Amino acid sequence: MQPASVDFLIQLAMQAEAQPLISHFRLAPARALSPNAPAQLFTGTAHGRSIALVTHGRDPHFHCDRIGTETATLVAHLAICACHPRLLVSAGACGGFQTQGGAIGDLYMPTRFFFHDQRVAIPKLEQFAIGDCTVSDHPAFRAAMRAKHGICATGSSLDATPSEMALFARERVTCKDMEAAAIARVARDHAIPFIAVKVVTDLVDDHEPAESAFARNLSKALVRLVDALDALIATQVSSQVAPPG
Ligand code: SAH
Repeated sequence: MQPASVDFLIQLAMQAEAQPLISHFRLAPARALSPNAPAQLFTGTAHGRSIALVTHGRDPHFHCDRIGTETATLVAHLAICACHPRLLVSAGACGGFQTQGGAIGDLYMPTRFFFHDQRVAIPKLEQFAIGDCTVSDHPAFRAAMRAKHGICATGSSLDATPSEMALFARERVTCKDMEAAAIARVARDHAIPFIAVKVVTDLVDDHEPAESAFARNLSKALVRLVDALDALIATQVSSQVAPPG
């Protein structure tokens, strides 16, 4: 069964990111969102609120999680249409920045999102490609999760070029991921309130490659993510949450 509407829709790219949340909230598998997309939907309740959790699913050809912006867009759209959430949450791992005070396990709730690797030097298309989007802050959520403020840069690569590193420094980016700006755009299309909750698994400005730091730190970082999302769902929000502007 798919829910008619839910309080929280939580979107995660990877099954490994989602599993601790599925266990913690005792979520049950729901009907597939589409026969043509491997995304997986889970539902349940916690603290008296209804929750849907969606993962991007495993690619049937490459046998790995469908991380990244293309799937993020598709899955956000399908899951919003199926679940009609009151709040959409892009959750999961991100790269952090020591130069911005970031450390492994830090939890961010960024309010600005943009694409850092979509370069189109044509008026209007350039702004569209960068997709700069600022969402409303929600102090009650932030306080409940003890989340840091931040700026999230989204792209299609785990590594970063020297020019992207310069851009991150110029824009004081605190989180680098592969989904959030895409999901923010879909939330705006649907006029659905949106937040991102990102936990640092690796440091972009450290000498260690992201892939090895990610693997080593993921499970510890996810403990912090579960704790934060539990606190988020327990928060009674009286104020209206606004869609991305
Ligand atoms: N090494 C992992 C793959 C991680 S891909 C594996 O073998 O399965 C990175 C995922 O975590 C993406 O969904 C992305 O949103 C997030 N992420 C974590 N650190 C990142 C970084 N430094 N840059 C971009 N995305 C990052």
